[in-house]
Amino acid sequence: MPASITILLHKCTGCTLCVKTCPFGAIHMANRKAVIDMAKCTLCGACVPACKFSAIELKKDSGPKKDLSAYKDVWVFCEQKKGVIQSISFELLGEGRKLADKLGVKLAAVILGSGIEAKAEELAHRGADKVYLVDHPALGSYQDDPYTEVLVKLAEEYKPEVILCGATTIGRSLVSRVAIKIGAGLTADCTELDVDLKERLLLQTRPAFGGNIMATIITPNHRPQMATVRHKVMKEAGIDKSRRAEVTSKIYPEEVFKSRTRLVDIVAEIGETVNLSEADIIVSGGRGLGGKEGFAMIAELAKALNGAVGAARSAVDADWISYSHQVGQTGKTVCPKLYIACGISGQIQHLIGMQSSKVIVAINKDPDAPIFKVATYGIVGDVFEIVPALTKEFRRALNK
Ligand SMILES: Cc1cc2nc3c(=O)[nH]c(=O)nc-3n(C[C@H](O)[C@H](O)[C@H](O)COP(=O)(O)OP(=O)(O)OC[C@H]3O[C@@H](n4cnc5c(N)ncnc54)[C@H](O)[C@@H]3O)c2cc1C
Repeated sequence: MPASITILLHKCTGCTLCVKTCPFGAIHMANRKAVIDMAKCTLCGACVPACKFSAIELKKDSGPKKDLSAYKDVWVFCEQKKGVIQSISFELLGEGRKLADKLGVKLAAVILGSGIEAKAEELAHRGADKVYLVDHPALGSYQDDPYTEVLVKLAEEYKPEVILCGATTIGRSLVSRVAIKIGAGLTADCTELDVDLKERLLLQTRPAFGGNIMATIITPNHRPQMATVRHKVMKEAGIDKSRRAEVTSKIYPEEVFKSRTRLVDIVAEIGETVNLSEADIIVSGGRGLGGKEGFAMIAELAKALNGAVGAARSAVDADWISYSHQVGQTGKTVCPKLYIACGISGQIQHLIGMQSSKVIVAINKDPDAPIFKVATYGIVGDVFEIVPALTKEFRRALNK
């Protein structure tokens, strides 16, 4: 977005308020007048309201306006791994169907992969009116460059009004790149979507400020409106085998599939039981477990419940468990039916990743631990006594 900032010298009194306000240290005084160092200025605009004399002028030029009416249809990017469509895609098709019906447009599924032509039918059964399919050996496993390039090409040609994608590792990596390339708005990690029919705006709701408020974000000036959506928040679309979709199978020149990185191998993590994001039950451990051995105890409880093992960052940083188990701001966002937090204090960075779980059970020896504020049930006590007792009782109750 081209922009310019100017000090109106005839208004500047040399009061230095703007110097104190600038978060980037980009303003200094010379001859009692403010001077902006454009090498440091980010055009954030913080100095403009700070100036009591209206001596700073910021002009933002958003360039030629897009014809927003040229954009139609709701798209869902459908993630597949080894040809298996991931459940988040069905959740998004369920939600996309509702949005498309409200907007009076078609619901389209986009699928990229290798040897995936038969998947179009499955997507039609899940409610897609259209399927955009690109089948190429380079798309067999996810890679940033070719996936981005292909989705950009599709979006530029067919101009969707909305693009939804899972807030998964792949989804986050892919659509942020696509949004930048096509100059679109993107809201990450939504938990609720709706439409403002009058303005044809996607209402993208997500937790903000550490989950203390729910913010609804709109993208009035750009299309497509893009959102990533958390896993397990929306209901999966049902299966209707009588449904058919219009399938567009695109072929692109080889250079579109070029990648700056080379995929050498994909190695399944040894010892991983259940995928954290897919799990209905997660038992997580933190610093209170005291070491790797504590996680063996957690794994026993998770196994008894058919659940997955999660972790606070403290445990990952201490090398007690691998990063793929980390829940929180810099780990995974999870939304299971049951989350059991063992020896985790409940710092905001951890809560961000798990507080939308349906039932939270916290076990902590400190009755004032912040985790109890978000817990449905709290057990004040020593994890080394409580966790084995729970495992024993669940095994007995579940006949394991
Ligand atoms: C930018 C940034 C990103 C971050 N991202 C993440 C993230 O993604 N995920 C994350 O988890 N953290 C993240 N953190 C770190 C976060 O701030 C906390 O430091 C971390 O979550 C604390 O982990 P913890 O609860 O295991 O440890 P602590 O805060 O040390 O808590 C340990 C708890 O165990 C309890 N305890 C001790 N012994 C026992 C026992 N025997 N029985 C029962 N309870 C016991 C204690 O009472 C205490 O409440 C991030 C931090 C930053 C700055």
